[in-house]
Amino acid sequence: MSLEDILKERIKNEGPISIAHFMAEALSHPEHGYYMTKDPFGKEGDFITAPEISQMFGELIGIWCLLLWEKMGKPNNLHIVECGPGRGTLMKDFFNGTKNIKGFHASINPHLVETSGKLQKIQKNTLKGTHNNINWHNDLSFLPDAPTIFIANELFDALPFHQFVMTEKGWQEQLVGVTSNNEFEFCLSDDIKTIAEQHNGAKIGSIIETCPTGSDIADKMAKQIKQHGGGAVIIDYGYDDYGYKDTLQAVKNHEYHNILQDVGDADITAHVDFINLANIFTSNGLFCKTTTQRDFLLSLGIEQRYMSLMKEASQEQQKELTSATGRLINPDKMGTLFKVITTEYIK
Ligand code: SAH
Repeated sequence: MSLEDILKERIKNEGPISIAHFMAEALSHPEHGYYMTKDPFGKEGDFITAPEISQMFGELIGIWCLLLWEKMGKPNNLHIVECGPGRGTLMKDFFNGTKNIKGFHASINPHLVETSGKLQKIQKNTLKGTHNNINWHNDLSFLPDAPTIFIANELFDALPFHQFVMTEKGWQEQLVGVTSNNEFEFCLSDDIKTIAEQHNGAKIGSIIETCPTGSDIADKMAKQIKQHGGGAVIIDYGYDDYGYKDTLQAVKNHEYHNILQDVGDADITAHVDFINLANIFTSNGLFCKTTTQRDFLLSLGIEQRYMSLMKEASQEQQKELTSATGRLINPDKMGTLFKVITTEYIK
């Protein structure tokens, strides 16, 4: 049975399902889920992410971690945990970029947390010959009693989101049902939901999106950092100001797609609520900073790295490098829509 038929059957038997339920099945159904069956990244895939655009991205994340390791007094038991590593490209460039730093690779225990068996295999292949002590996990339950730095690029946008709409009755949840013609359709929950008090004044038609799985992952990161020291760098597209808008989107072959079509065959994401992420870190007693991808990469020296790569590049490569750098930092590309939250805690 196709995933669409499985979900339609379920809805007919049990009633409409939440967007989060729909999204979780579309992305992670063990047999038909988007991330379980596909390698969606790059030109051939459906979308391209920063580490796939340029080696500089993973290298600079590596520098950020290296600087924190130095500030921490170079502990020899630092765990580096990347969540949602895609093809493993970020870590490959992280290792390449930091391999000449004395003592760093020997002091770190890298971990990759990935739910998709198919992507784990691709990551193992990408990371052959980089570091001899990498461990793979399905979730964060393994966290050791030791300092830890977390990295997550475009993880949080891919976790299941709930959507609530302000109507005359109050906040109603957006659900997915099935029409009499057996097509998926959006509909609203009968009951009224309670949303964080700060949103009570929102106008009719306002939309709020929440992501309990993302909040739970961020909370686990924060507790680990607070208890054992370390930090986190989280990058994603998102907002640090509430627009009360629908940000759910599906993408297939680099183009926007209807969320309710080609279920399991198109990527579904939403913009990440950076206010919520910051609240999770601060409520766990950590300081954190939210900035744009542009300012983050500039502060780590992307321009200097660009110049040094240009010196050794062919003409063709120079063109690619210039275009890649622009894509990462220009405000009309990824530069300002993508935000970065960092937190550092030295025990
Ligand atoms: N960081 C990569 C990939 C981003 S796509 C890059 O920038 O290219 C999202 C990734 O998160 C995929 O690898 C997906 O399989 C993984 N993923 C989705 N849900 C997850 C979860 N709950 N825990 C860990 N990884 C998850």
